[in-house]
Amino acid sequence: MKISVVAELCAGEGICEQDAPELFEIVDGVAVAKMEEVPKHLQEAARNACANGPTEAIKIEE
Ligand code: SF4
Repeated sequence: MKISVVAELCAGEGICEQDAPELFEIVDGVAVAKMEEVPKHLQEAARNACANGPTEAIKIEE
């Protein structure tokens, strides 16, 4: 699984960082993915962060 954030779509409120701090952090008001390739034990957290965000900024490639 690979993750990325489309900065232009990010609302910056940080739900992803709360859901999956190992994977996302807010930098200057925009979420960034801390890694591209997601290890197995963090994949559910990645899906949750993607589902819980208010926009479609998080992209997941299975
Ligand atoms: S949950 Fe989505 S919109 Fe909110 S900060 Fe994270 S990537 Fe941006």
